[in-house]
Amino acid sequence: MGGGKNKLLLELAGAPVIIRTLRAFERAESVEKIAVSCAERDEGEIMALARVHGINKIALFVRGGESRQSSVFNALRTIKALDGFADLVLIHDGARPFISPADIDRCAEMARSSGGCIVGRKITDTVKEISGEQIKKIEKTHDRERLFAAQTPQGFLFSNILDYHERAEKEGFSATDDAMLAERYGGQVALLWAENSNMKLTSKEDFLLAKAMLSLGAGVARTGTGYDVHRLVEGRPLILCGVNIPHEMGLLGHSDADVAVHALIDAILGAAALGDIGQRFPDSDAAYEGVSSILLLEKTMDIIRKEGFALNNCDLTIACQRPKLLPHREAMRSSLALAMACDVSMVSVKAKTTEGLGFVGRQEGISCYATASLVKIEEN
Ligand code: MG
Repeated sequence: MGGGKNKLLLELAGAPVIIRTLRAFERAESVEKIAVSCAERDEGEIMALARVHGINKIALFVRGGESRQSSVFNALRTIKALDGFADLVLIHDGARPFISPADIDRCAEMARSSGGCIVGRKITDTVKEISGEQIKKIEKTHDRERLFAAQTPQGFLFSNILDYHERAEKEGFSATDDAMLAERYGGQVALLWAENSNMKLTSKEDFLLAKAMLSLGAGVARTGTGYDVHRLVEGRPLILCGVNIPHEMGLLGHSDADVAVHALIDAILGAAALGDIGQRFPDSDAAYEGVSSILLLEKTMDIIRKEGFALNNCDLTIACQRPKLLPHREAMRSSLALAMACDVSMVSVKAKTTEGLGFVGRQEGISCYATASLVKIEEN
């Protein structure tokens, strides 16, 4: 589909599919470590992307096998060799990027209490069982109320799923998912109806549909502005738009002092008339000490989405004498797009020097101006 490239590395509205998937697991509280099963040639790229996108839970890469089942078995054997690595595993298909962290946590909880749990959905089409070669004959119509389309994650107590796979290997039994092994070997599996679309991206049409899902409905646009300044000091990292920029000085502040993200948050809150950053994430709250501003941007998006808003576009102008920001522009746009779960085309980042004038010109600080446009997509 991607001209020979792994489809999971294809960009989907600002972030590769695999990154969207990994991010859901990064954000799920029940997940401590992630083992990625992939081809050797993709490992470096996935690792680099994960670093850029702040995914820190990847503990292990394992080689994929000839089939889904052998890939999973490889991973389970590797985990077994690392004694104490996991007592519960959630097996997930990287091509399902829309799984929510809440569903992941619920699946883990139900797997822990039942021994196994799979996520899936109701079937809305009427399903016919057919036979015949050229001319098909309908053998049977299934009762939809008794059907469940199995997706992933599929969660199991580690000892259970390892046992099923070992037995299947011995018998030469191949299954299309892990729950099928539990079914064969008498394991109990609870069912969890996915909260939101947990579609699997396999065709070009799936990608188009996914992009449409991530894009916006119609509505009247509202705009907001934001402005912020932070002082430049020695001994601090320089983080702008969530990107770590090599420089001999960094910005001073209570959080990571990401002046660009702060201005953007104010612009977004301003467009929605929902207050400002100081009010939503007060300096006085120890919870925000040293926190990544990108996390605050994600929380800001949660706040506006709850009120029925979605981002139309945003535009940032960072006033900075040194260092040159142009080489980091695409990384900054991508970082913001990912945090806001929007297409990168909605995010503009520009940089200006001030010709040596003022506090920016004297390199005493960096400032940022932001505007954001929101649309109301649902009435609450
Ligand atoms: Mg600030």
